[in-house]
Amino acid sequence: MATRAHNFFAGPAILPVPVIEAAKEAAYDFAGLGMSILEISHRSKEFDAVVQKAQADALEIMGLSADDYAVLFLGGGASTQFAMVPMNFLRGKAEYVNTGEWATKAIKEAKMLGETIVTASSEDANFNYIPKNIVFSGDADYVHYTSNNTIYGTEFKGTPEVGNVPLVCDMSSDMLSRELDYSKYSLIYAGAQKNLGPAGVTLVVVKKAWVEEKAKGDIPTMLRYKTHVSKESMFNTPPVFPIFVVGKTLEWIKSEGGLGVIQQRNEMKAALLYDIFDAHADFFTATVPNKEDRSLMNVTFRLPSEDLETKFIAEAKALKMFGLKGHRSVGGCRASIYNACPVESVEALARFMEKFMAENK
Ligand SMILES: *Cc1c(COP(=O)(O)O)cnc(C)c1O
Repeated sequence: MATRAHNFFAGPAILPVPVIEAAKEAAYDFAGLGMSILEISHRSKEFDAVVQKAQADALEIMGLSADDYAVLFLGGGASTQFAMVPMNFLRGKAEYVNTGEWATKAIKEAKMLGETIVTASSEDANFNYIPKNIVFSGDADYVHYTSNNTIYGTEFKGTPEVGNVPLVCDMSSDMLSRELDYSKYSLIYAGAQKNLGPAGVTLVVVKKAWVEEKAKGDIPTMLRYKTHVSKESMFNTPPVFPIFVVGKTLEWIKSEGGLGVIQQRNEMKAALLYDIFDAHADFFTATVPNKEDRSLMNVTFRLPSEDLETKFIAEAKALKMFGLKGHRSVGGCRASIYNACPVESVEALARFMEKFMAENK
């Protein structure tokens, strides 16, 4: 097998090697059928088993029950969920927390569909912190927030207190990266291509009772949660191959020991980089000043000049370290160190950062 590069892309992003291997095999011969998973019916019993296992594994990892929650695999990316959530649930008013570009986009969609209140925002400081002690009205149809801000490198470390109001979260870039009380959420969605699998499928975990009682039935069929919950995510042809890969990633999370082990490793990896910023703040500047707001998934930083950043990214590439350029809207550097990113890659990056600093300071 060819050596793997050090992959720090923000999304689509790194996947565990055993998952890639399983995808490779299934792309040629799936379940011993002598046919590729790409060539068979999504209604076959072999593929049905894939979907059911993935749904059960997702719930098991999150500590949720199939009596209470449905797991859906939908198309259209997290961006379609920005619209689907208000389409289904916004009747009176919805409350949003604005912590970055993705949250802003979710708010824009909601505004087209009903009264949308931005209860808290960190836009005043270019989204470099997480708003604290947010006081919600308590009578919204739902509260929506973004747990990890992929572009700005901030992350909610806990779950905002919303009382009895249904809580909706875009967890695209930190889904299943840590232990959380997932039962506090009425709906969680995540584009798979950050931390769960390939592009092309969005994982939605939704409280069945909320859908049953509150979701609208008079909107187009494919945009109704009711459709997908009642058909167990098989209303139409689902994205079969991405679902297969997400299923393998879920198996990998379980085989690693579950979210406790994954979280520990993620905290350790992030510390390897954040410690450098703290030790050498005169050269590497963390773009998120408040330590508790720093993302475990997307580590954002600046160097003393844009020229040095360009040089840093180029030299890293020569060492097979890819994806370190910050998002085009903020510049600087970003290392995305999702679940599948090995400790060795982060250690290699940390060593390179120290060396680069010594040579360029
Ligand atoms: C990438 C990303 C999105 C957009 O996901 P798509 O699947 O491309 O629509 C939404 N929210 C967050 C937090 C993201 O990181």
